[in-house]
Amino acid sequence: MRLILLGAPGAGKGTVAKLLTQLDGSVQISTGDILRGAVAAGTELGLKAKEAMNSGGLVSDDLIMGIMEERLQEPDCAKGFLLDGFPRTIPQAEALKGLLTKLGIELDFTVEIDVPRDVILDRLTTRRTCSNSACQAIYNVKSNPPKQEGVCDKCGSPVIQRDDETEEAISKRLDTYDEMTAPLVGFYKNEGNLLTVSATDSQEVLKAIQDKLAG
Ligand code: AMP
Repeated sequence: MRLILLGAPGAGKGTVAKLLTQLDGSVQISTGDILRGAVAAGTELGLKAKEAMNSGGLVSDDLIMGIMEERLQEPDCAKGFLLDGFPRTIPQAEALKGLLTKLGIELDFTVEIDVPRDVILDRLTTRRTCSNSACQAIYNVKSNPPKQEGVCDKCGSPVIQRDDETEEAISKRLDTYDEMTAPLVGFYKNEGNLLTVSATDSQEVLKAIQDKLAG
């Protein structure tokens, strides 16, 4: 399957993407994970991205499109992909459209995961992430804590609060979403291929996507 997952930070895009990968071997492509990996590795990309990320702003469209143009041509994308956190601006959505046409790839549809603001705020302030950039497993201190406090169940690395998950950065990220990314809902509605799911339960979102895929 080839889907775009749209939704505010904390809406559950990553969780739903991981569930979907188990269905047919499609890969999750999270620009946030790629960027955090680059920051941790101290690469040139990481250095360029770090400031915008920590302040809750966006990395430049050019950098993101450079990453995605390469990523979408890697062999593991042949089985399908779930775009998680990309596109995030109208210029990225326009550029993605051109890139997919150039590569001869057709999307199934775009999913908007619509979750109330108070749920999002609660989730983001209680979210914890594995610090190992190759893992980046997600936990929640209330609803899904690691078995041993502060230690990743999957790889044993420390589980931390992301630098951009302080209250100040979260509030900025949500403002950035409203200003820069929410307009994509209208963009994909106009394209005629948008599924909106208003649900806080990832299994419910998964079910709605499976139903639409089944036609
Ligand atoms: P995420 O894990 O998707 O919340 O992304 C973390 C941060 O990475 C965002 O707050 C942005 O600073 C940056 N980022 C991720 N994806 C994009 C994108 N498509 N365009 C611009 N910045 C991005």
